[in-house]
Amino acid sequence: MLAEADDRRKVLHGLELGANDYISRPIERNELIARVRTQVRRRRYSEALRNDMQASIEMALVDPLTGLNNRRYLDMRLPSLLEESARRARPLALMALDIDRFKSVNDGFGHDAGDDVLRTFAQRVKNAVREGDLLCRLGGEEFVVLMPETEIDVAARIAERVRQSVEADLFEIEKGARRIPVTVSVGLAQSLGETEAEALFRRADRALYRSKNEGRNRVTLDAA
Ligand code: GH3
Ligand code: MG
Ligand code: MG
Repeated sequence: MLAEADDRRKVLHGLELGANDYISRPIERNELIARVRTQVRRRRYSEALRNDMQASIEMALVDPLTGLNNRRYLDMRLPSLLEESARRARPLALMALDIDRFKSVNDGFGHDAGDDVLRTFAQRVKNAVREGDLLCRLGGEEFVVLMPETEIDVAARIAERVRQSVEADLFEIEKGARRIPVTVSVGLAQSLGETEAEALFRRADRALYRSKNEGRNRVTLDAA
């Protein structure tokens, strides 16, 4: 701010309002430049700090290969979502996905091809689920979709849509030079008012295991 040399009240008021610095008339050109420079430097520094912090938070919670949220993010969000669904007696569905015979993609076409499949897979699942659903890559070729406010029969329809969208089109690898079939097995469980994430995961996993056992490329609902 600019102030008259003797106007201390105005300076005080300005500082209270949040002025970072002031300069008194008559204005000295070099002083003005020096003070503005300092302010700009400070501002740049604090912006860089803020951006760094934002970037590290994002890095910690996002899987770099697929751009999906990671397990840490899921672990962070799941307890409060479970609690909320139990408290309000609202359904919460959890879909566990595991790509079928994924090891053979890596073994047959190389790790880069495997990564291509993971990226495309993530995109297809993302397109097949809804806006409010939470899609995470747990690690490897294992993914989870958390569906708040979702009854099991609705969740089953969404899971089936996911399964189909994976199977429907071949996956491009080797920069499009080759296209291979990929399928996914899915297990589905609904929260029964439990607040333990473990229990819900276990039931979704059990259903997924049945999908694998019964021939893969299918959706199985938890029997409980
Ligand atoms: P199943 O149908 O029973 O699920 O068979 P699978 O081969 O998919 O299962 P398995 O768990 O034996 O193999 C998973 C493979 O996923 C092993 C590893 O080579 C591969 N994998 C894990 N993470 C990555 C990754 O980030 N990139 C790539 N390219 N491959 C990965
Ligand atoms: Mg697996
Ligand atoms: Mg697998």
